[in-house]
Amino acid sequence: MKKRIVAIPVSILLIISSLAIVSPSKILKVSGNTLYVGGDGSGNYTRIQDAVDNASSGDTVFVYSGTYNENILVDKTIFLIGEEKENTIIDGNKTDDVMKIISNNVIINGFTIKNSGNDHDPKDTLNSDSGIDIQSDFVTISNNIIANNLIGLSTRGISSKNNLMIKDNLFIYNNENEKKDNLAIDCYGCYLMYTDHSKILNNEFYYNDNAIRISYSDNNEITYNKIINLTNNNAYGIYIKTSNFNIFSNNYIKNTSIGIWIYSLADLIIGNIICNNTIIESFYALLMQFCSSNYIFGNLIKNNDYGIHLNYSTDNNFYHNDFINNIENAYDDMNNFWYNTVSDEGNFWDDYTGEDADQNEIGDTPYNIAGGSNQDKYPLIKPKHNIAPEKPTITGKPSGKHGTEYEYKFISTDLNGDEISYYVDWGDNSTTGWTRTLPSGEYYNSSHTWSIKENYTIRAKAKDTRGAESEWETLEVSMPKSKEIKTSLFLQRFFQRFPFFEKILKRIVSLKNQ
Ligand code: CA
Repeated sequence: MKKRIVAIPVSILLIISSLAIVSPSKILKVSGNTLYVGGDGSGNYTRIQDAVDNASSGDTVFVYSGTYNENILVDKTIFLIGEEKENTIIDGNKTDDVMKIISNNVIINGFTIKNSGNDHDPKDTLNSDSGIDIQSDFVTISNNIIANNLIGLSTRGISSKNNLMIKDNLFIYNNENEKKDNLAIDCYGCYLMYTDHSKILNNEFYYNDNAIRISYSDNNEITYNKIINLTNNNAYGIYIKTSNFNIFSNNYIKNTSIGIWIYSLADLIIGNIICNNTIIESFYALLMQFCSSNYIFGNLIKNNDYGIHLNYSTDNNFYHNDFINNIENAYDDMNNFWYNTVSDEGNFWDDYTGEDADQNEIGDTPYNIAGGSNQDKYPLIKPKHNIAPEKPTITGKPSGKHGTEYEYKFISTDLNGDEISYYVDWGDNSTTGWTRTLPSGEYYNSSHTWSIKENYTIRAKAKDTRGAESEWETLEVSMPKSKEIKTSLFLQRFFQRFPFFEKILKRIVSLKNQ
């Protein structure tokens, strides 16, 4: 008997029925047989490839948890389902593609797919070793962990691919350091090439050299992905090379050398929409080179060295973007539209100094873009996104006597003009709780008495009426200041050897402080 023969078909049906909804395929069937791999059922296969080879088109291959050291070729229409993605592991042992898919209408769900080889084709005409290499259409890759590969998921190679769905996967450790083989090339999470009408949706990317690359690929949607680069290499979030009419929206990109890079050597890149993304703490948030007639709107561009930087690009449209706390918000040495030419609404620039006398929330004077003579003629007075208040400034006496009441002042501002409440932790296990709201830029005053002689850290944070909280600000106070033991390097070494004397000295100082 097969293990858990009653429970499994039900769970498979659930998985398949949920996948059938999201799959772009028009001809999926769920009426095939199920072949089992692993587990302890009699007749179960030991190798995934043997089950695939013996499956017919439309069958399901269900794989029980375990580690399978294989390189798998999927050359027929099957559903390949792992029992549990963390524990159903296909390991390529650093050789070749871990899985290669050459048939249409394939679904891969529920695996860890790791350790591809390191063979790399610099000319892009052949595929490089990948966790999953797709060379066919209507393939769905969902709910997998794709780790430690040269390229996590690749569609490189000159054949055209269409209607792929890459959804809910975790791409992790697809990076050079992790491979530890002194590779002279970059590793990638997901690399699409000659791929059209496909979706990369709701995936997470961590510790990849580069998260997503799209080359020579049109009409795709790259949405709701979370990309946080934590390697030390030059790394980009999304690299768009010679690809047109794609949508990149609602992605969260943090800590990259280039958040989104659009680049072409030969033709102008046109018709892409880049909207509602958050790009923070990167060197360039958005770098565009040889681009024309792309639309960039509704993005939050915050805490980067460079916000949007354009070279050799004309007639692109930028509006409703929020530029906050970048060293240089924007640079444009040619001619582009820095406002919506229909609605006459521009972008929010945190360094805009103009007035809004008629209070229509559009600045009365243009904002100058660095690099040339471009202007945002209609700069927004408030950001489009809700921005948390600044962390509060704390003022008040840094030292005093215990048992005496002192007043402290707290102030923060909110770029949206929201009202602000404050939360103060006095450092002695007492807090103010969240206060009533005050207008942005108005002081909150509060007094406190510390009853015990000690040093304390006052911590304060601010929250806007929409619930967005600032970071903590701190102020050290002494009630009164204790005499610290300032030890020289000589004394530190002495105490390391004779810790007993340090104890004695500390005891003497604490007695004097009482
Ligand atoms: Ca706000």
